[in-house]
Amino acid sequence: MNSIQVLPSSESISAADQELDRLRPPAEALVTVLGQARLHPLPAELVAVAVAAWRVLAEDLTAPEDQPPFPAATMDGFAVVANDGSPWREIIGEQMAGSLLDLEVTPGTAVRITTGAPVPRGADAVVRVEVTEIADDHVIIHQDEVAPGENIRRIGADLRQGELVLPAGTLLGPAELGLVAGLGRSPVLVRRRPRVSVLSTGDELVEPGQPLAPGQIYDANRFSLIAALEAEGVEIVWSGKAPDQREPLRALLEERIASGDVVITSGGVSMGELDLVKALLGDLPGVRVHFRRVFMKPGKPFNFATAGSTLLFGLPGNPVSALVGFELFIRPALATLTGRIGAGRARVPVTLLGETAPSDRIEYQRATVRAHPDGHLVASTTGGQASSRLASFRGANALLIIPPRSTVYTAGERVEALLLAPPLGAEERESHEGTAPPQ
Ligand code: AMP
Ligand code: MG
Repeated sequence: MNSIQVLPSSESISAADQELDRLRPPAEALVTVLGQARLHPLPAELVAVAVAAWRVLAEDLTAPEDQPPFPAATMDGFAVVANDGSPWREIIGEQMAGSLLDLEVTPGTAVRITTGAPVPRGADAVVRVEVTEIADDHVIIHQDEVAPGENIRRIGADLRQGELVLPAGTLLGPAELGLVAGLGRSPVLVRRRPRVSVLSTGDELVEPGQPLAPGQIYDANRFSLIAALEAEGVEIVWSGKAPDQREPLRALLEERIASGDVVITSGGVSMGELDLVKALLGDLPGVRVHFRRVFMKPGKPFNFATAGSTLLFGLPGNPVSALVGFELFIRPALATLTGRIGAGRARVPVTLLGETAPSDRIEYQRATVRAHPDGHLVASTTGGQASSRLASFRGANALLIIPPRSTVYTAGERVEALLLAPPLGAEERESHEGTAPPQ
């Protein structure tokens, strides 16, 4: 067996070591992580708009011209001079979307027009086709009043020239990417996606799909982390697992540090002698450890280090602890690396539906938050909150923030929740609240 001892060579190292193991409040740990992430913004690159979905914009986009750039019909119908007094109008032409004919509407005339087509010169209203009747080359309008401007989208109604449409840092979702394309922008400047490696450590870990020997368990963390990372739009450049052996682990860590922006490990960061990730991070040349523990539950052991511009996160092995650590520290770090704005989770007051016991540290309990019919938000925890019980995360749309105190939190009390997804409607059920299994 490989036994590791980190022997402090002087008193000052031991003091530094103690400082690294100091139990930091989560807020302090986050400030440290984000401070480092801010030092290493990812470079920008030009990509075609067709492949820019879910990337983070790296430039301010302003409207180069008014939209629409011409007065446009918002209905199919007839372009006319509003209230020109004519009982019927002579149809002098047809203006379709996509071109601009040389037509002029004068009192007593009309131009047939389609939605989105430029309104011809002289016309100041479009009459819907539904209220018209055509007789030979004339149109009769069955509408008492035709107001000037009716059914016309004026120049600049949607966007004004020079208007800031999307600031740098915007995540390009459906509406945003449509706006980018609508401005005619391709290619567009976006941040490079973070390149991330994910490494599970532990002699007990077996690949899903393979048989288990006594004492073994399946590697769950790599896959939950891959899902969490993919939702953040990163590029996973490598993922795998390593045994609890110093040399192979060291070689892998060095290789991963050299080839990515972020390296995430799980396992091996507690106080045991086989907790090699913790020992190696403290040992590897060029690696600077910033802290090793956070005063929170779950996920107290949490190693954060940097090596040049690479951020290293040593998550604990328990699957819930790993995901809570990802949510609280890694997800915000990824947003900072890409300069993304508006990525923060909403922190909202909720009313507890049942009682819950606090711990000696701030605890992040997985919960379902829903809208009560009277409008406020109510929360129920997802059952057993052991850090090994990944099922407590299934269907959870929130982390309740439960500060330490000496008495139990009772139903009806208000606490804060970090919303991981929108609250459920009053009637919706979450999968973990579902029906009993079939008998
Ligand atoms: P460690 O942090 O390595 O001491 O592991 C803490 C607990 O998490 C132990 O029960 C491990 O077996 C378990 N564990 C570690 N890594 C994983 C993983 N990748 N998937 C599932 N459980 C794990
Ligand atoms: Mg382990």
